[in-house]
Amino acid sequence: MVQSSLRTQIVGLVGIMLVGAMAVYLVLATRVVSADKEASVYDVNALVAGTVAQQIGRTVDGIADKLRYFGQEYEITPGDAERRARSLFDADSAVLSLEVFKRTEGGFERSFLFVDNRRLAALNLTADDLTEARKRTPAPLDAVQQAGVVLQNASLAPDLALVRLSSTTADGKAVVIADLRPEWLLSAVATSSVYKVFLVDRLGRVLAHPDSEQVIKREDLSALPVVKDALGGKLARGTEEYEVSGVSQVAAFARVENGVGAVIVQVPRDEVFKATRELSRRSLLFAVGVVSLALVLAVLLGRRVTRPLRELQETLMVISRGNFGVEVPVAGPSEIRAVGAALNEMSRELVRRSEQLQTTNAQLVQSEKLSAVGELAASVAHEVKNPMVGIVGFAQLGQESTDPAESLEYFKLIEQDAFRANKILQNLLEFSRPPEMEFEALGPNDVVLGAMALCVHQLQMQGVRVETALATGLSSIRGNSNQLRQVLLNLMLNAGQAMEGSPRKLITVSTSRPEAGFVEIKVGDTGPGLAADVKDKLFKPFFTTKRRGQGTGLGLSVSRSIVEAHRGSIRAEGAPGAGATFIIRLPEVS
Ligand code: ADP
Repeated sequence: MVQSSLRTQIVGLVGIMLVGAMAVYLVLATRVVSADKEASVYDVNALVAGTVAQQIGRTVDGIADKLRYFGQEYEITPGDAERRARSLFDADSAVLSLEVFKRTEGGFERSFLFVDNRRLAALNLTADDLTEARKRTPAPLDAVQQAGVVLQNASLAPDLALVRLSSTTADGKAVVIADLRPEWLLSAVATSSVYKVFLVDRLGRVLAHPDSEQVIKREDLSALPVVKDALGGKLARGTEEYEVSGVSQVAAFARVENGVGAVIVQVPRDEVFKATRELSRRSLLFAVGVVSLALVLAVLLGRRVTRPLRELQETLMVISRGNFGVEVPVAGPSEIRAVGAALNEMSRELVRRSEQLQTTNAQLVQSEKLSAVGELAASVAHEVKNPMVGIVGFAQLGQESTDPAESLEYFKLIEQDAFRANKILQNLLEFSRPPEMEFEALGPNDVVLGAMALCVHQLQMQGVRVETALATGLSSIRGNSNQLRQVLLNLMLNAGQAMEGSPRKLITVSTSRPEAGFVEIKVGDTGPGLAADVKDKLFKPFFTTKRRGQGTGLGLSVSRSIVEAHRGSIRAEGAPGAGATFIIRLPEVS
């Protein structure tokens, strides 16, 4: 699994938490507001429908009472009926005409007609318009007898909106009819662009409506669920939700008590929840703003947290490259400070350990060197013995000689041998000095020849021949000649020891440039070669196949650490019976 960075995780976590919290909050808030709004819209609809129905009931009853009264009284003073009608309906400006029908043997007969021409003129109407309307919508005289009061739509297309209120007198002998402007019925209702309040008759046709077109057309709304409920159901009031040409509506109804019809209040659902939707939209914008701000803050916070971590990481990289002792500034949050302090402590400890290791290593190199010196002791003694024999011999010859010129010659020979002995001892002394870590530019061939000078006599004494194949024109290497000499000396002495029982005893030391930038020094022998299990362990400290007291098992491991300190490598080749070759690869000085 790919691990994302700490900063990405912090930002991701904050983002997920915020988006989650905001989403839950928005859903809950919208739900609560919607439910609350829905409940209140139902209540308001029902309340408005009830109030308007009551008001219409009262208004209709008021006029119906007056009509009844008029039907009883209009004949008391003959010829005065019109004046009575005027004074009785003076306050009811919607009343445009009055008719009285009397019951006779064969049915009903109109006995009185009054038309308020002034009111008609103000509405740009004439008495003929009313006559036409009456003709088109005859008075429901029989129905009035049964119901007591009937309200009907008597509108006349194309532009006369009219309602007709009919009432029987108390004795049932007459029916009084008034033509009225429909606005009167809904005048009490403040018109709203959202809420639609209208009145339907007992068959579901529009009686009064804010849109007079609907009144004139006598729109039949009996199919509307709310109208069906209002006229057919048992309840006098109720609410309903339905669709009108794809638009969802929330509606309420209330029947007018005197039975003339029902009031309907209807509002599109979309309009009701407009505010809720707006609230959701704004809340969403607000949430997006808050989440974006929080993410920016999280990015900044993440950067603050991860910056010290990055510094820690960089310092660790520096330490891992071997630069112990580098420290980080101890800053940032407490946890990071603790890690920083621990890292610094580790870095200091590494310096201490590394110093200890270097000292131990130096001691190891030195002891290994002294062991090599021990191995060389026989050949050194042999080397020094030769000049000593010469010195003693020449000294004796000098004493016996009487010729001063001859004596001088012996002295010169004594001096030469003394120098030779001194040179051998100096060479050995220089090699056995404790290691200095100074590096300088060295010729690879010089290093080989220096090492050979130390051990060639020893090897000759063991019957080993040493051959060289030194390349010319090699670049210099950077190193410590004493240490590199120690490595080669060790390899050659090992080869000499390995060939003790071999019939052919030859060591070949060669130098070459196998590829650009590198120099190789090879030490090959004609000994028994390397068994696979020996080859694996050659460079491990204390690995030896020699008898106790003969080998320390440290020669090759020390050699490897010296070569690696020179940024080089050492490896061994050679199968059993095929001799062994040790190859040292060192970088050229660029
Ligand atoms: P030591 O010489 O004290 O044993 P070294 O680390 O120098 O320790 O060598 C480890 C072992 O590697 C030797 O004991 C020997 O078995 C093996 N070895 C080293 N050089 C050669 C060689 N030229 N041929 C065969 N075996 C070798």
